[in-house]
Amino acid sequence: MPSKKQYDIIVIGAGPAGSSAAFTAAEQGARVALLEEHEQVGTPVVCAEGLSRSTIKGFLDIRPEWIACSLDGAVIRGPSGREFTIEYPGCGWILDRMVFDAALADRARACGVDIKTCAKAVGIEDSEIIVHEHGVEQRYCYRQLIGADGIVSRVGRWMGLDTRIGAENLEVCAEYLVENIEVRTHYASLIVGMDNAPGGYAWIFPKSASAANIGLGIAPHMTGYNARWILDQWMQREFPKGRIIRRTFGGVPAKILPRFSGSDFFLVGDAARLTDPLSGAGIATAVKSGMFAGEGAVRRLHGKPDNYEARLSKYILPELRYHRRVRNGYLKMTDKEFEKIFDVSRKIFEGTTVQDISIRRIVTRILLSSPHILRIAFNLLF
Ligand SMILES: Cc1cc2nc3c(=O)[nH]c(=O)nc-3n(C[C@H](O)[C@H](O)[C@H](O)COP(=O)(O)OP(=O)(O)OC[C@H]3O[C@@H](n4cnc5c(N)ncnc54)[C@H](O)[C@@H]3O)c2cc1C
Repeated sequence: MPSKKQYDIIVIGAGPAGSSAAFTAAEQGARVALLEEHEQVGTPVVCAEGLSRSTIKGFLDIRPEWIACSLDGAVIRGPSGREFTIEYPGCGWILDRMVFDAALADRARACGVDIKTCAKAVGIEDSEIIVHEHGVEQRYCYRQLIGADGIVSRVGRWMGLDTRIGAENLEVCAEYLVENIEVRTHYASLIVGMDNAPGGYAWIFPKSASAANIGLGIAPHMTGYNARWILDQWMQREFPKGRIIRRTFGGVPAKILPRFSGSDFFLVGDAARLTDPLSGAGIATAVKSGMFAGEGAVRRLHGKPDNYEARLSKYILPELRYHRRVRNGYLKMTDKEFEKIFDVSRKIFEGTTVQDISIRRIVTRILLSSPHILRIAFNLLF
């Protein structure tokens, strides 16, 4: 007979969202289990590991041992290959996700969370989770459930939410961790243009002076080529001597759900599709939504309103909704229009030191910079 064990809260998935939910709930006294299908938390890494300081400030202090490289700005490359640099000292980091994810899980373990690895949730029946744990079926009972099972999430669907992502709401990504190359440390390179990354962008995120995460995300409905093929062509052109030591393929959701919770469950991080539709960044929103859900679940255990959706609406959703609108315009842009915006941005940013980058402010500044750009924006929107 399969064994049964009762928890106040069960969290499925030990990425940044799941671990943050688990330690937040356990720190407030709940009995929590955290289920992870892989043998080791933090592997495999499916991420370019970039984190901007402003998005995580006030939620998590980033420790030196989690950082592969700190960032002081960005290099922007347009479709024709021209570049300019934005100086933004201390703007963020390239993390070591293996270390970062493991550290968040360690914090959960330290406050009493029961972490179960090699434990894949395969279904739910009457407030019981069916888990294949080291090849054996187990059943765990919960009072509140937190779905933190990433982009492949099934928890939402098990609980009756439509979390499916169509091709138009998805960025398909390919990325290699490459060694034996010359890297401009402390600067993240962002590259746009239809040949470089149709409907998305390409990146070079430094891990050291000789290694970087090099990848791209594309909108699959905008090209007949796949992301891996485009990346391989680029690698041959720009980094012929690079040694690939890790290959990563994955997706980034660009969809905003109408609901993120039900009476006995919460969705967090990528499972809730809480990823920035423009940049693809999801680490900070994973941590924040995880913390909100962990706290919300404990409030429910005490018979109080959870405030989860209200906190998402206050701290996360306004920016995601705005970036989604910008993405809609971005997807319609031609290389000629990219070049014009590149020229305007270069005039604004080159040679200056930036203290704060908000997409809303950048877009406003660019739009107001020339009547020509305003005309492009008008055409894209209407
Ligand atoms: C190529 C690429 C590059 C990216 N680069 C960046 C970047 O530079 N910066 C950034 O902020 N974001 C980036 N992202 C997005 C970022 O990786 C995610 O938003 C982030 O990892 C979300 O965290 P999460 O905890 O919600 O999900 P995940 O990190 O995906 O964690 C989900 C966990 O759930 C586990 N799991 C899944 N199903 C089950 C199950 N049934 N049972 C048990 N466990 C399960 C998985 O094994 C996994 O450990 C990138 C994404 C991709 C694909």
